[in-house]
Amino acid sequence: AHSALEAIEARKDLNAFLHVDADLTLEQARNADAAIKAGKPAALTGVPIAHKDVLVTKGWRSTAASRMLANYVSPFDATVVSRLADAGAVSLGKLNCDEFAMGSGNQTSAFGPVRNPWDPNAVPGGSSGGSAAAVAAGLVMAATGTDTGGSIRQPAALCGISGIKPTYGTVSRLGLIAYASSLDQAGPIARHARDLLELLEPMAGFDPLDSTSLEFCDGAPNGPGRIRSRFDAAIARQQKNGSRPLEGLRIGVPREFVGEGLSPDVAQAVENALKTFESLGAVRVEISLPRTELSIPAYYVIAPAEASSNLSRYDGVRYGHRAESYKELDDMISRTRFEGFGPEVRRRVLIGTYVLCHGYYDAYYLQAQRVRRMIANDFQQAFAQHCDVIMGPVAPTVAKAIGDNREDPIADWLADIYTLGVNLAGLPAMSVPCGFGTERPLPVGLQIIGNYFAEGELLAVADCFQ
Ligand code: GLN
Repeated sequence: AHSALEAIEARKDLNAFLHVDADLTLEQARNADAAIKAGKPAALTGVPIAHKDVLVTKGWRSTAASRMLANYVSPFDATVVSRLADAGAVSLGKLNCDEFAMGSGNQTSAFGPVRNPWDPNAVPGGSSGGSAAAVAAGLVMAATGTDTGGSIRQPAALCGISGIKPTYGTVSRLGLIAYASSLDQAGPIARHARDLLELLEPMAGFDPLDSTSLEFCDGAPNGPGRIRSRFDAAIARQQKNGSRPLEGLRIGVPREFVGEGLSPDVAQAVENALKTFESLGAVRVEISLPRTELSIPAYYVIAPAEASSNLSRYDGVRYGHRAESYKELDDMISRTRFEGFGPEVRRRVLIGTYVLCHGYYDAYYLQAQRVRRMIANDFQQAFAQHCDVIMGPVAPTVAKAIGDNREDPIADWLADIYTLGVNLAGLPAMSVPCGFGTERPLPVGLQIIGNYFAEGELLAVADCFQ
C-alpha cells in the first residue's frame, strides 16, 4: 500500500486522484494482511482500487468534482463501496471526474482536467476520466465508474482499457450522487474482462435501500454468482467449439454506427476487430437502429430534466457550500448555486428546468420519453430477430486535445451518439480496447452491447477477443 500511494504521488501530473488518505488506506491494507495470515482471504483481498468521486465514502471526501461539495464528507458508504470493501478490495482514494458526471472529457471538473496517460495533452474521456486514467497508468488494478450516457465505456475506450455498464437496476445506486436517476448506473473499469467480472460480481446485487434495484434478473435472484454463472456457462460453450470458440454467434453491426461522422482512425480499428471476431467463428449481420440520431436530443432533454430535479437539493442549507454574503433567503440560494456550480452544470439545470416547465413539458419532456421507448424497442427488435450481441465503436474519434471542445458543448454532446441509446434502453454494454488510430496513435475502444442481464455473456465474448 505504501508503494501504491507513492506511485499516485509520482503521477500527480495526471490529476487523476482528488483525495488520498494514507491512514485510511493503510488500515484496510492491514486488514487484508490479517485476512491472508488467518487463511481467510476474500475474493478481492488486497486488490488496490479507487472510487469515482460521485460515490460517497465515509472516510474520504465526496465532492462529485464540484465546488458545491468541496468539503463534503458522507456519513455512510455507497453500497458499491461497502460491497467492494467487504470483498477485501483496498481503496486508495477518490478519483477525479466531470462535475456531477456531466461531461465527456473530464474537463468540467472544478479541480482541473485529468490527463490521458497515453498523451498528456489529450483528454482521458469522461466523465469517469480519473478512473480510466488511474487504471491505464497502473496506479490501481481497477476503479469504479458511473455511466449515465457513456461515462464508463468512453473513458475506458480513450485510455485503452475495459469497462462495463451493467443492466439498469442490477447495481445499487444508494450513495451514488444522483445525476439522472433513470439512467445512472455504476460499474467497474479495469484492464481485462476477467478483472471486470471479479469486481462486478460483488458490486451487483439487490439492495432494498434503492427503490430501482432489481430483486430478480431473468428469473434468477440478483445476487452473488449471477453474473459469474452466466460467464462460466458461456466460456464452457466457447471451449466446446475448439478453435472457433464463437461459432454461430450473431454480431449485429448497426449501419447507423459505422457511417458518416466516424473518423477513419476508429472505423479501421473497429473493422479489424470485427474481422477477428469472424475468424473466431462469429457471423456478422448488418442491422439498423433507426433512431440512433434521436438518442442525442432525447438524452439531452431527459438527463438535464432529471438533473435539474436532483440538483435542487444543493440549496446552501442541506449540503455543502453556502454563499458567505447574501441579502435574504432567495438571494442566498441563488448566490450559493451560482458560486457552487460550474458552467456545464448550470447549463444542464437551465435546460432541465426549461423542458419541465408547464407549457413546454409535452413538447420536450414527454416527446423525449416517447422517443426513449422507441429506442428501447429498436434494440429489442434487433435482439429478437437478428443478433445475439451488437458491436460498434464507443466514440467517433480517439481522444481529443485538452481544451478542444471547451467553447462548444454541443460538439461534446454529439460525440455521445454511440453510447446514449444503451442508457436510454437500460441495456448492459462494455468497451474493450481494439487497437490504435493510424492518424493519431491513441487507443480505440470496441463497444459490445447485450440484451438485459447478459453481463456474463458480454464479458465472455470480450475475454475471447482479449
Ligand atoms: N457525456 C454525457 C453527459 O455529459 C454522459 C455522461 C455520463 O455518462 N455521466 O451527460
